[in-house]
Amino acid sequence: SLTAKGVHLSFGSNHVLRGIDLHVPQGTTASVIGPSGSGKSTLLRVMNRLIEPDAGDILLDGKSVLQDSPDELRRRIGMVFQQFNLFPHKTVVENVAFALRRLRKLPKDQARAKALEQLDMVGLKHKADVRPGNLSGGQQQRVAIARALAMEPEVMFFDEATSALDPELVKGVLALMTDLSKGGMTMVVVTHEMGFSRNVSDTVTFMDGGVVVETGPPDQLFTEPRTDRLKGFLSDVL
Ligand code: ATP
Ligand code: MG
Repeated sequence: SLTAKGVHLSFGSNHVLRGIDLHVPQGTTASVIGPSGSGKSTLLRVMNRLIEPDAGDILLDGKSVLQDSPDELRRRIGMVFQQFNLFPHKTVVENVAFALRRLRKLPKDQARAKALEQLDMVGLKHKADVRPGNLSGGQQQRVAIARALAMEPEVMFFDEATSALDPELVKGVLALMTDLSKGGMTMVVVTHEMGFSRNVSDTVTFMDGGVVVETGPPDQLFTEPRTDRLKGFLSDVL
């Protein structure tokens, strides 16, 4: 499980996270929704310690991770961004194998074999030896997901993973994320895709102004929103 407890974070005088609690049980998918600027991306970055919280705690399997090295935590949490951040001059398989060699210290042939296996899982083994520039955005995002999965993370974070994609490419990436979720991966998914949030995630957390305004099962949040803030947000996005 992954837990954030009372997390606060300010950028200068901008108090962006104002006491966030989030609990994601093992094998479940939590979606995080909310308006632009509400602190969703910042929360993910604090939870994998790209930014240190000013106050509060982050726990993996009930144990605080704030004393460990941030690098160690980032090996345990895979992250997929809106921008795929693939190396343009490396081939697809080299992109996936890179971290396996650098961080996992696998020999070249083993890293390649593992990378190919992971590419097969996302349906892109046949693209192993081309450069990312020759792939569609949806294919590039699936490579980025394969790259994260190759490290065998305990938890996967997705931050607007489909927002930069052309509409016809969104489906393939969401299908892959759905498979992962159904397969028992523990996931935190920041998304504008209300269909995914409603139909795939186990819990939905609605953030606004750096606080969790409502959290619960999708049926509850989407059909019986309790606050005017969530009602207003849903009427804007649905
Ligand atoms: P969106 O839906 O647009 O992605 P978000 O909910 O992810 O929005 P964040 O990116 O977490 O929002 O930003 C929350 C607040 O923190 C905003 O006011 C933003 O300007 C501020 N912020 C984010 N990153 C930084 C940074 N590196 N330095 C200073 N301020 C930042
Ligand atoms: Mg964001």
